[in-house]
Parts: sequence; C-alpha cells; structure tokens
Amino acid sequence: PVIDPEQLLAGMNDPQREAVLHHGSPLLIVAGAGSGKTRVLTHRIAYLLAARGAQPGEILAITFTNKAAGEMRERVEQLVGPRARAMWVSTFHSACVRILRRESKLLGFTSSFSIYDSADSQRLMSLVCRDLDLDPKQFPPKSFTAKVSNLKNELIDEETYADRAANPMEKKLAEAYTLYQRRLREANALDFDDIIMTTVNLLQAFPDVAEHYRRRFRHILVDEYQDTNHAQYTLVRELSGGALSDAPKLTADGDFVNPTAARLAQISPAELCVVGDADQSIYAFRGATIRNILQFEEDYPDATTILLEQNYRSTQTILTAANAVIERNTNRRKKNLWTAGDQGERVVGYVADDEHGEAQFIADEIDRLTDEDEARPGDVAIFYRTNAQSRVFEEVFIRVGLPYKVVGGVRFYERKEVRDILAYLRVLSNPEDTVPLRRILNVPKRGIGERAEAMVDALAARERISFAQALQRVDEAYGMAARSANAVKKFNAMMAGLRQVVESGAGPAAVLEAVLEESGYLAELQASTDPQDETRIENLQELASVALEYEQDPGERPEGEDAEGAPPVGSLADFLERVALVADSDQIPDDEEGQGVITMMTLHTAKGLEFPVVFLTGMEDGIFPHMRALNQVKELEEERRLAYVGLTRARQRLYLTRSVLRSAWGQPAYNPASRFLEEIPDTLVDWKRTGAAAVPPARGFSPSSSGGSRSYGSSGGSARSTTTTPQPGWAKSARKVTEREVVALAVGDRVSHDSFGLGTVVATQGVGDKAQATIDFGTTGRKQLLLRYAPVEKL
Ligand code: ATP
Ligand code: MG
Repeated sequence: PVIDPEQLLAGMNDPQREAVLHHGSPLLIVAGAGSGKTRVLTHRIAYLLAARGAQPGEILAITFTNKAAGEMRERVEQLVGPRARAMWVSTFHSACVRILRRESKLLGFTSSFSIYDSADSQRLMSLVCRDLDLDPKQFPPKSFTAKVSNLKNELIDEETYADRAANPMEKKLAEAYTLYQRRLREANALDFDDIIMTTVNLLQAFPDVAEHYRRRFRHILVDEYQDTNHAQYTLVRELSGGALSDAPKLTADGDFVNPTAARLAQISPAELCVVGDADQSIYAFRGATIRNILQFEEDYPDATTILLEQNYRSTQTILTAANAVIERNTNRRKKNLWTAGDQGERVVGYVADDEHGEAQFIADEIDRLTDEDEARPGDVAIFYRTNAQSRVFEEVFIRVGLPYKVVGGVRFYERKEVRDILAYLRVLSNPEDTVPLRRILNVPKRGIGERAEAMVDALAARERISFAQALQRVDEAYGMAARSANAVKKFNAMMAGLRQVVESGAGPAAVLEAVLEESGYLAELQASTDPQDETRIENLQELASVALEYEQDPGERPEGEDAEGAPPVGSLADFLERVALVADSDQIPDDEEGQGVITMMTLHTAKGLEFPVVFLTGMEDGIFPHMRALNQVKELEEERRLAYVGLTRARQRLYLTRSVLRSAWGQPAYNPASRFLEEIPDTLVDWKRTGAAAVPPARGFSPSSSGGSRSYGSSGGSARSTTTTPQPGWAKSARKVTEREVVALAVGDRVSHDSFGLGTVVATQGVGDKAQATIDFGTTGRKQLLLRYAPVEKL
C-alpha cells in the first residue's frame, strides 16, 4: 500500500521491466553477473503485492542462503510495508522443513524430528559401516556418505538403488544406504538431503498435500537457479504444477485416475519465475546441473525467456577482465555483458614472496584506501579458495588492528565443545536420537567405554529396540561389567534429571546451563590447565548467550496457519531447529562502528554479493584453480566459473594477488601463477609488484610476461615437488630463504640450519638449483633438504 507500482518500475531497463510485469506463463531469466536478476526478483514480488493483488501468503521465494532470504524479505518490506512478512522467503531447506513439520505424521515421523547435518551423517554412516563389517579401506564411510548424498540429490531412494546395484561395490553401498535410512528413521531424524527428497516424495505420494500447497502458492520465484540440483528442480515442479512431465495420469478411457488427480488438474499452475546464470554454476559437486535450465525450457514449452545484458555493478575494466576469463570455457552460451558506467581503474596485481607478505600488502592497501577516504572497511571483501587461507589474513589484521569478520571457516557451530553441548540438548529434545546420544555417552569421560557401548548396541539389535531404549535396560546387556553398568545408570539418572528441567518449562538458556553443570562438562574444562580449554569455555559462554538471546527474543514464525506441527516458539526444539538451519553466511555479525568491517570468505560463499573493493587472493595454480582440478577439463571449467563469480563481485576496485611461496600443511610450496591471471589481458592490469626478487628457479613469475611458456599439465604436481621438509613455522623466514645462494655441500660437511640447528651431511643428490642434501640433525632427526631454499650455512 505504501508504494505506487510505477515507482517499482522506475529506473529499470526494458527487459527488466518486462520481467517484473510478465504475467502467466513460466518465466526464465538467464543473465550474466550483476545484471539485476536478484533485483528483478525482489521488484517482481513487490509488484505482485502492490499492483496485481497477490496475497503475501501466496508467495514462495527461494534464495540460496538464509542471509539472502533475510535481505530479500527486508527489501520487499521496504517497498510494500510490513504485510510482506507473511511471505515465505527462504532457502530450499527451510521451506521443506516447514512443510515436513506440518505433514510429519503422514510420513511416520513426529513433528519434532531432528535434522542431521553433514557431520552427523558422516558419523552415522561410520556406525553403519562398522555394523556391516565393511573394511574402511575398501569401503570408506566418507565416500559412502558422499554417494548417498548424490543419490538423494538425484531422488534415488534406497530401494530403487538396491534394485539396480550391479557390482559388489554398489551392492555394499546399497546395503549401507538401506541401513543408514533405517537408523535415521529409528532416530526420528532426517539428514540434509532427505529434507528435500522426502518433501518431493510427500508431494508425489499424497495428492491432498500437493493440492494444499498448489492452492496456496500462486507465485514461486527462485534465485540462483543454476545451482539447483535435480531434487530441488523436481520440488519446484511439484509445487507449481503445469510442467509437461507432470501432466495428470489418465486411465485408458481418458478419465482421471482418482478424484484428487482430477482436482489437481483443475488448479491452474503457479506463476513460476526462475533466475540464474549458467556461468555462475559452482555447485556441480553438490549435484547442481545446468541441465535444469535446459530441462526447464523442455518441461515448460510455453516458457518465456528473458535475457538481461546490461551490468549495473562493475566498471568496464572489471567486466572485460571477467569476460576474458569465462570466455575460455567451452560449451557456453556467449553473452554480451556491458555497462553504461566508466572504464574505471585498472585491476591491481601484486606478487608477494609468501602469504604473510600477501596479507601485509592487503592490510597496507586497505589502510591507504581508508586514509585517503577512498573506501571504508565495510566496502572491502577478501576472497580465497579454501577456508584455511583465512588464518594468515586474520593474524595480520589482528596485529595491525583492522576490523574484520570471517564468513564461514571453522564455524562456531562446528567446534567440538559447541557440538557436544548441542548434542545434549538434542537428546533432551528427542530421546531417540542416536547419533548425539552416542556422542555424549562418555563425554566427559564417565566410564562408559566402547565395550559397554557395543554391549548396549548388541542388546538393541537382539531385542529389536532402539539404542536409547537399550540403554535404559542396561541390566539385560550381556556381559557388561558392573562398573560400566553403574556408570550407565548414573548417566540415565542424570539425563532424567535434565529432562525434568526441560519438562518444568525452562527455556533453552536455562536447560543449557543445567547441562553444563550437571554433565560435569564445564567442571572438567575448568579444572584443565590447557589454554585451549579456556577458549572452549569462552565458546560455551558464547553458546549460552546465543540461547539467552533466543530466549529473550525468539522472534515469531511468520507462516501463521502453518505453525501447525512446528515446535512452539521459544521451546528447546525450536531453538535447535534454528541453530541447525544456520548456514555459513549467517555468521556475519552486525556492523557496530558504522564504518563496517572487512569481509573475508571463500569464493563459494561470495555468490550473489557485491563489494566496492575486492581482493582475490591466492591466485596460484594448485590453490586457485584448486590442485585437484588442474588436470581435469570439467573441474577446471567449474573453477573458472568460480573465478568469474569472484571477479564479478567487484564494483569499483579489483585486486589480484598471489604468493610465490606458500606453506601448505606446514610445508612450503612454490606455485606458479594462476592460469586465470594469464587469461586477463595485460593492458587491464597494473602490476604493483611482480615478485622478481623471489623467483623460484625455472619458473615464470610474471603472469603478464610468461606468455604460453608454461606447461599446465604438470605444473601443480611439479610445483609441489620442489618442497623441502622443514618444521611448521619455517615459511615465516621465507623471504630470507628465497634470496639465498645454493650452498655446495659434500658428505661429512657440518652445517647450521635456522630451525633445526647443527647437523652433518650424510648424503647429497642433484646439482645446481636441484641440489639436495640429507642432513642428520641429531635429536631433530634426518631431513632431506632442497638446498635452494633451505636456510643452511656450511660451517
Ligand atoms: P549476480 O549474478 O551476481 O547474482 P544479479 O544479476 O542478481 O547479480 P543484482 O545483484 O540484482 O544482480 O544487481 C547488481 C547491482 O546492480 C545491484 O547493486 C543492483 O541494485 C544494481 N541494479 C540492477 N538493476 C539496476 C537498475 N535498473 N538501475 C540501477 N541499478 C541496478
Ligand atoms: Mg543475484
């Protein structure tokens, strides 16, 4: 009501406007980065509400992260006012959890089912493989977990898979899959992939349920469509109706097979609007497939496709750089992305000697930008390929006092102590939940060892009861030592006491406090002298304040009527559900200074976001593109799309940095420049430092000058092989090392090494830059050193 619909269209270009106004048939918007896809989606929702008489409850919008959902909801609210709150704007997972809670009884779950995240799934699969007596070397549980996940993403359930399993490996997998699913059901739990697959099954098996949601959602909108997998694709199809492959089944006489099918066929399909960019598809490893975009056009033959070509985000220089990189991919639709904006500054390149130098350059540069009022810390983002790369930036930023936040990383909720305590809460909320129950059984140590656990397990199997039930009947566990049995009884009594706290109506914060006290967990940490345990206590304090915050303001469930079946707001179960659904990007704390803080994150997390200043770091073959992609065309293309995502996040300034030496797993590695650097035309990049002083032997160092002289096929591997074997921390003295002349050594020479101390040469190998020596450092042991880099001196 607060907005004139015309205002929503003001400033939009023609195809954007067309997308907002489009009526009826399914709409597919495929367009390059920064062309306003997300903005169109948001404005389309606002327009539906403001001008087309849609009710908020009729709208389902799917985004990729909870954070993106929050932003979209907020934006729509700004445009059309608070009534927007009744919309469903959420991730696939959150939307499905809501549906499943409401319909859980149909599926034989209670509405308080637990959600297993990937760590839980992993653990459960390990238990399953152990129970099946599978040799972990031959059948690694980790790969089984991944395979089961892939199957679920393809909507292949355990029975279907068992039927088609052909070779012995597949048969074992089928067995594990089947048992894994049974265990989940016994624990009243669903894993992450189940959430989607089960919802699809629900809609397909219960036409009444499908009818309910089809009547309800008249508008379905999906952002980042290129990253949906088959299960998600099917979910959208089931919710919206109207797809060809969904045509109602008819009997031979042309009648509907049942009355519900007839009713379903009468509901006009929801208006569907999906937006995506095939060049930004970066989740193939999770089963996302471009097939979905192609399939969309087949499944909905009357679909309208709109292309957006004007970019509103980046300077022309940044766009040209990004286009130059993505053009190297084959099998893509050519796009012509342009901007009416300026050419902008050149991209800045920097080659550091080591990763500390790289971080230092970035810190200095941010300082300069803020001093000169060119940017605020909040304008700056730092991207890297893998989470572990954040640590060095953190160290440097802490030292120089730059405010920053890390999105993702070792997430708070993944820390051991946090998971332990949450496991207690989960068992209190759902006593049948086996994985957390086993996790806490002997944490802290209370004398319930593996043997005792195995006996409970055996009892459960023998009596065909759950692990939790068996635990209560410990006296019947054959062969359990009296001491263990007593420990189990004490554990049961403690949990019963805690359950009383829950039943007495205490909120999550109070329950958590009781757990910390009664379990002995806190006492153990407090008694410890290990400084890490102090950090653990701090983390638990943090968890306590998370619970307290929730208790004081649990918020509300916007869905109204759909609250049916969901745990009541403010309850322990509701708290756990929200914790379980927190995705990476939700960890960004609010800005307190008003100047904002630097954002650090992996490239995968950066999708959909934009920043005035972007640093793309670790631009090295073996880092980015990732080592495992170096020799694989398909994977390399996915890495290149990831580069395209990274480059196109920048609005005004783009920095590309790399380091000549980088320690990996405590060992230094010399990686050549990323091939993506080479793909960017020279004229676009202003190299502030080329790292000439730090050239490793026989390696082109300058990304702009080495032309085609490198052979890519083996570069990752050979780069790694030039490593020595120093101890951790060695890399910090790298600058000194890389300038060193090769010392000529012979057997029997005495040497001094910066880290290892005095030693004697016992063998030598190779000449010149490749010269190596095996040196006996006495108590430190024997080391084989590449003399070009080893900080040794002949005595
Ligand atoms: P990505 O592919 O990275 O997700 P996108 O296509 O979703 O990008 P948006 O994030 O919607 O693009 O838009 C990019 C930027 O351009 C945003 O800052 C947005 O506000 C701005 N923008 C989009 N369209 C217009 C327009 N017509 N006028 C002014 N600014 C616009
Ligand atoms: Mg977007």
